[in-house]
Amino acid sequence: LQMKGYVIALDQGTTSSRAIVFNRSGEIVSLAQYDYPQIYPRPGWVEHDPADILGTQIHALSDAFARSGVEAADIAAIGVTNQRETTLVWDRTTGKPVYNAIVWQCRRTAAFCDRLAAEGVGAYIRDKTGLLIDAYFSGTKIRWILENVPGARERAERGELIFGTVDSWLIWNLTGGREHISDYSNCSRTMLFDIDRLRWDEDLCRVLGVPMSMLPAPVPSSAEYGRIAPGIKGLEALAGVPICGSAGDQAAALLGQGCVHPGEAKNTYGTGCFTLMNTGDRSVRSLSGMLTSVAWSLNGHTTYALEGSVFNAGSSIQWLRDEVGLIASAGESGPLAESVPDNGGVYLVSAFTGLGAPHWDMYARGTMVGLTRGTTKAHIVRAALEGIAYQVKDLLDAMEMDSGRTLSVLRVDGGASVSDFLMQFQADILRKPIDRPKMVETTAFGAAFLAGLSAGLWSDVSEIAALRQSEKVFTPAMDLETAEKYHGEWLRAVERAKKWEKAQ
Ligand code: ADP
Repeated sequence: LQMKGYVIALDQGTTSSRAIVFNRSGEIVSLAQYDYPQIYPRPGWVEHDPADILGTQIHALSDAFARSGVEAADIAAIGVTNQRETTLVWDRTTGKPVYNAIVWQCRRTAAFCDRLAAEGVGAYIRDKTGLLIDAYFSGTKIRWILENVPGARERAERGELIFGTVDSWLIWNLTGGREHISDYSNCSRTMLFDIDRLRWDEDLCRVLGVPMSMLPAPVPSSAEYGRIAPGIKGLEALAGVPICGSAGDQAAALLGQGCVHPGEAKNTYGTGCFTLMNTGDRSVRSLSGMLTSVAWSLNGHTTYALEGSVFNAGSSIQWLRDEVGLIASAGESGPLAESVPDNGGVYLVSAFTGLGAPHWDMYARGTMVGLTRGTTKAHIVRAALEGIAYQVKDLLDAMEMDSGRTLSVLRVDGGASVSDFLMQFQADILRKPIDRPKMVETTAFGAAFLAGLSAGLWSDVSEIAALRQSEKVFTPAMDLETAEKYHGEWLRAVERAKKWEKAQ
């Protein structure tokens, strides 16, 4: 029997749907990507049209497959990864959504979250779900739909409506409405899921007013969930191909970076930073405001991750380019920073929208300190890049404390990880090797790997680490004393940035 040699990852993101065909060496064979519209009905509200999510994803799958030149009979499986927390509610029979998808960024339930916090549910939620009360997570978004769409609550209580995050919505549709499931990593982001018992929490469903009959069946990350249904326009050739893996985007990226051992971590340097550390079979609760989620679950073994984020990272470089006009392109920042021997005493804290873990101050604002008559544009640009690295260090230091694990290596991806200056400075400040991979589609590869694992393309989770190749490893070169001095000054700058905006 000839083994099938390819897997396809569906990567449904916040601004685009992508599909990538991988071979068994983990190499990209073909790719297709389609953007779709963002809907902003009011300030702070963000929605997607569920038909756009599905339509662009099917289009991308169909095109990536066509471009690959691979026979359908040679596709072993499909894996799914997705923007997390984004919430859909649809009719179980007709498949018709009752409302647009409410996107993770949407703040419409913030006031309800404040009420929940005031009622003192925070400790329970943290204990059960690993999350802090926040409007990001799906639970309060489901409630909003049930409260605000006429007739929705009654229909949900009669069992006519079902909920899903984007993974669920895609898999339900691709299997012709047969499978209503969600993998544990996506369930972990609803604020309704008991991450230790791996089941929906009845009490939280009651508190949030979500009928349990709406919820998808929680499933492990790698298993045959169902098959592509016949009769889906554009996917005729792929009918019958099994869907065998699913994980939320950050979990998939952690896996795609080969962080399969406790203490291994990845950071994505995008607009913001997303940092995840594998904490093994322990679901650690953070003392510094980090989140705990299931990363993946394979063969009955569940792996957990601690997660933190820097709200403004690459965006500080965009800011220097677009608002301040100090640079013409993001790519100029590294060479300009390297044109001066050091930061000249300048520190830039990019707290444009407050500071997240571990500093946590919603009233902090962007701050630049240490200016002298000798400060140049290069010092300021350098301070912005260094500021990204300091924030990532502060997150990882806190994760080490929380988990009791020592970080062995930081694996990196995202737009700003192309900056050699930033990566070298990160290594210098963090005192750890920084490993940048050759193949940067880590999220999609994580999903492809989960699918290929279940379909028999790969046999063990550790194989992914062998498939991953480093493009460059940056090792600490700065002496420890200097690094500690800089970091100490950074922490003083952070204190200056805190509590600036006055509480309303
Ligand atoms: P996202 O997915 O969050 O939109 P990306 O992963 O595409 O972000 O990364 C884009 C970010 O990376 C931008 O904020 C940009 O300023 C930053 N960036 C891109 N290239 C560089 C570079 N060479 N040096 C520093 N920052 C960069």
